[in-house]
Amino acid sequence: MKTDKPDKDKSKINMEELVSYCKRRGFVFQASEIYGGIAGFWDYGPYGVELINNLKRAWWKTFVYQNPNIFGLDSAIIQSPKLWEASGHVAGFVDPMIDCKECKHRFRADHVVEEWIEKVEKEQNAPALPTYSESLDVLNEYLDSFKKEISCPNCGKFGTFTSARQFNMMLTTHVGPAEDDTTLTYLRPETAGGIYTNYENVRETTRAKIPFGIAQVGKAFRNEITPRDFVFRTRELEQMEMQYFIQPDVREEEYAKWREFTWNFLLDVIGLSKENISWHEHGEDEKAHYAAAAHDVYYNFPHGRKELCGIHDRTDHDLTSHMKVSGRDLSYFDEASAKRFTPNIIESSMGVGRLFVAVLTEAYIEEEVGDETRVVLKLKSELAPVKVAILPLSKKPELSKVAKEVFASVAGEYNVEYDETQSIGKRYRRQDEIGTPYCVTVDFESIDDQAVTVRDRDSMKQERIKIVELKSYLADKLNLVVR
Ligand SMILES: [Zn+2]
Repeated sequence: MKTDKPDKDKSKINMEELVSYCKRRGFVFQASEIYGGIAGFWDYGPYGVELINNLKRAWWKTFVYQNPNIFGLDSAIIQSPKLWEASGHVAGFVDPMIDCKECKHRFRADHVVEEWIEKVEKEQNAPALPTYSESLDVLNEYLDSFKKEISCPNCGKFGTFTSARQFNMMLTTHVGPAEDDTTLTYLRPETAGGIYTNYENVRETTRAKIPFGIAQVGKAFRNEITPRDFVFRTRELEQMEMQYFIQPDVREEEYAKWREFTWNFLLDVIGLSKENISWHEHGEDEKAHYAAAAHDVYYNFPHGRKELCGIHDRTDHDLTSHMKVSGRDLSYFDEASAKRFTPNIIESSMGVGRLFVAVLTEAYIEEEVGDETRVVLKLKSELAPVKVAILPLSKKPELSKVAKEVFASVAGEYNVEYDETQSIGKRYRRQDEIGTPYCVTVDFESIDDQAVTVRDRDSMKQERIKIVELKSYLADKLNLVVR
């Protein structure tokens, strides 16, 4: 089975609280909310867009800038439909679907079965059922044998399901004025496709020699039958993918290397804790037919331990398929060994939305301060949506004037907020809740001593700093380069 049960940690934020927090604090809104929403699509608000941009920048810096032989790419969302025929998506990018004949709702057959198994095992407190696998036959056997026990998640009726059938998840559109089979195209289901088709262009223009990698961050689209779990499973998603092109005989060591690299990125750069991440090796029934090996990193999400990212040994499957369908020779001649071969690929792939949920789950903390509870987002300062908040003690014009000068002296390089309404205590709490590492208070003394008070989010300690020194003080604290 793919998912483990959620753990019982009460201090951790649950999914309902997370969704409400994200809306209340301007991280994530439902798409088309004023029209009743559209399932599987979400909009990132003022703090959400800062956080996801910071996550993407952190990934890019680590994967692209820290490796001299990894190059960036931004390929088009719509490609020739032949690309998706070659990659196998047209034939095989499917999920098992069932309909309820009573209420006409559609469901992922595997999700319905998995949830029922989970429920039964919880009640009986033991795994008492035949082993579950993802094949359509096994799913149908399950649905048939237990039709008196598995009810429709929507209407609650028994025995109303059709048998499971495969549903292609690619979203389609038409390019050009005619709407027929000749103009049918797809919104890309993953970013990797454009990387494979640009392999030769990137290799030639950068004069790269194998091994080298191509990295891309971008949107992908999947017509999920039942999008759910907030931004975890959506119909429009964003991916961060790196494909590393290698010789066939170094697959094992490169696979180990990129697993470790990805793992360390999650721990050291993003700040997830060891207790919350774990490896999940794909069993024979989960692995794609071409993958020689596949490991996912699972995160302890509010809704259980689930996939955050994957590292896959894709063998020479991708370039071989594209050579066959395109007729182009994508083989590589290695001068050192005087051998020609089809490059093999190790892939490291991560969902931005999933990393967003993981990092908020990890950072969200409720702690007792005096006799009240403070919500604080203990994010690494590199990831914080707002780095510094400038807070004049009152709205008096003479104070505003100094505070605006302070704002101007530090703004421009990173996101700085200016806030002069409500009591200073409430404004501190607001900034704590969105994870702002430093609050700068401008008080009446500032006018005379040309200094401000800087408050640290985590320790809540305050320090008096000269205004002329503030920019370099903050840059130092935030680990930034000052110009
Ligand atoms: Zn129903």
